[in-house]
Amino acid sequence: MTNKSSRRSFIQKASALGLSALPLSALAGTEPVQKKERLKVVCVGGHPDDPESGCGGTLAKFSAAGHDVKVLYLTKGEGGIPGKTANQAAKIRTKEAEEACKVLKVRHEFLGQIDGETMVNNEWIQKMTEFMEQEKPDLVFTQWPIDTHRDHQAASILTIQASLRVKKKFQIYFYEVCAGSQTMTFHPGEYVDISNEQETKRKALFCHVSQDPEGIYACGHEAMEKFRGMEAGVQAAEAFVKLNGRNNPSGIL
Ligand SMILES: [Zn+2]
Repeated sequence: MTNKSSRRSFIQKASALGLSALPLSALAGTEPVQKKERLKVVCVGGHPDDPESGCGGTLAKFSAAGHDVKVLYLTKGEGGIPGKTANQAAKIRTKEAEEACKVLKVRHEFLGQIDGETMVNNEWIQKMTEFMEQEKPDLVFTQWPIDTHRDHQAASILTIQASLRVKKKFQIYFYEVCAGSQTMTFHPGEYVDISNEQETKRKALFCHVSQDPEGIYACGHEAMEKFRGMEAGVQAAEAFVKLNGRNNPSGIL
């Protein structure tokens, strides 16, 4: 069986077995998919640049294969440019995020929270749930909840809470950012080979001019891609923790 037909049969099995039965690497192929095989993928991040740095290679790969990919930014990064007002920073970073998503060939949306003042409460759980109800994703990438940045924590928890409430269930995969300094205690079990998407990811990340993209890579992302690649036996990889066991709703809400 060729890789192409083998992966296709993997995806076809997805509808029968449920996506959670399949390794992420089997879903993230490079060959174009047929319409009926198309997955809806959402990636949630606290700020513009988090989805790009944490799983930009994986998003580019899903998009290039013909899957429908959308990035949801919890905030516009209002607090992220020293010397600029919140409005000025939001305007600059919105433009940068638009450019980055063009490079990755993904759609994007902002949920409307404010950088540095994110909230996890019933109102925002409802808003995240409504977003997911509208998108009806099969897979959702989101930030790992044990992170030094509270906005990253908020993005993560809101995604988990929405997953418990939506009618159409989706599979969550957590991604890491600046491992060791932001994301902590992260032990991945899923890997996506991004050797061919590394350049696209870098280009997307470098759209975030206001965020010192060289610095973002220097904070560990280059090393992370290489190290996760070593673990997966490829040149470069992104790594994920799959959330299991949240399909039983009893007692959760
Ligand atoms: Zn961030």
